[in-house]
Amino acid sequence: MALSLEVSRKPSIVEATKVPMCTSCNRPITPWEKGVAFLCPNCGEVVIWRCSSCRKMGVQYRCPKCGFEGP
Ligand SMILES: [Zn+2]
Ligand SMILES: [Zn+2]
Repeated sequence: MALSLEVSRKPSIVEATKVPMCTSCNRPITPWEKGVAFLCPNCGEVVIWRCSSCRKMGVQYRCPKCGFEGP
């Protein structure tokens, strides 16, 4: 998977250049919305995307690779 974005282990605000899917609600994260992308804290191989509403509501995410769940 080729990502043009630099993704760090720390959550960071990024501007989406393509439309990623929110890992929590599977909703496309719109370009004008500030989503968050970070690597899975457990396996460090999967980029977790969260939309602004899931961040606000504290919805859990689940890593599609290792199944790690976190807030
Ligand atoms: Zn979401
Ligand atoms: Zn993982």
